Amino acid sequence: MGPKLTGGEFIVILTGAGISAESGLGTFRDKDGLWTRYDLAEVATPEGFARNPALVHEFYNARRANSREARPNPAHEALARLRRDWPGDVLIVTQNVDDLHERTEPAPPGGDGPSGLIHMHGRLEGALCAACGHRWPAPARMAPADPCPACAAAATRPDIVWFGEIPYHMDEIWFALRQADLFVSIGTSGTVYPAAAFAQDAGRAGAWCLEINAEASAVAEDFDAVLIGPASRKVPEWVEGLLAALSHPPG
Ligand code: NAD
Repeated sequence: MGPKLTGGEFIVILTGAGISAESGLGTFRDKDGLWTRYDLAEVATPEGFARNPALVHEFYNARRANSREARPNPAHEALARLRRDWPGDVLIVTQNVDDLHERTEPAPPGGDGPSGLIHMHGRLEGALCAACGHRWPAPARMAPADPCPACAAAATRPDIVWFGEIPYHMDEIWFALRQADLFVSIGTSGTVYPAAAFAQDAGRAGAWCLEINAEASAVAEDFDAVLIGPASRKVPEWVEGLLAALSHPPG
């Protein structure tokens, strides 16, 4: 399925909450998930944080604890394999704030995350000072009175992009979407912008676009093909097929 490949293609992959669902981390849409017990406007907006920082920290402390207990599933592992074995470049842009992608790859020296992975909505493992912009590794539990290690202001927040804020690294992402030969969206509902428009942007610039999701997303018509099924099965199958096509090119 899809275009004829040489191995030199640049692959851009967007992941959403659905890729981590089978690791036990709830999506927005889960009926009994953590998200349903909290009002998004109260825990995922700057205004909510200004009103009740203790509640917001409690919410993200619980999500950080869940994320630390979770393990990458075969979908994360398959993308790590693709990044290792695909001869061309592979960029993963994730909307997820968990660290399950990076846990499939050996940590590079210097404590940085792996290159080729962008957390456009921030990370549960990051802390950010709202006063001076300093960033540091998040402790297991954060609280409103925590001082910033750089400026001592009690303005600590999770390093998460909330609704109404601008996602991180957008210039780099737009640039990559324009260069991509293949754009693949995995486990995202296509309801949160700007990520929901990425297939349109990449497609317009010439990329072949594939969606892998448990059900067709709100923007499924922007893709050249849609694979329906659980990420833990569909992503390894897709990666296997891609790498096999390289070792056995159609005659
Ligand atoms: P979403 O909850 O809106 O949609 C999840 C999508 O995943 C749905 O389309 C659903 O059909 C699909 N899905 C569910 N289980 C799946 C599975 N096993 N295999 C394949 N697909 C599956 O999530 P979204 O589109 O990522 O929403 C965007 C926002 O949600 C982001 O801002 C993100 O930061 C936040 N979020 C992140 C996490 C996380 O870090 N793990 C969890 C929940 C929400």
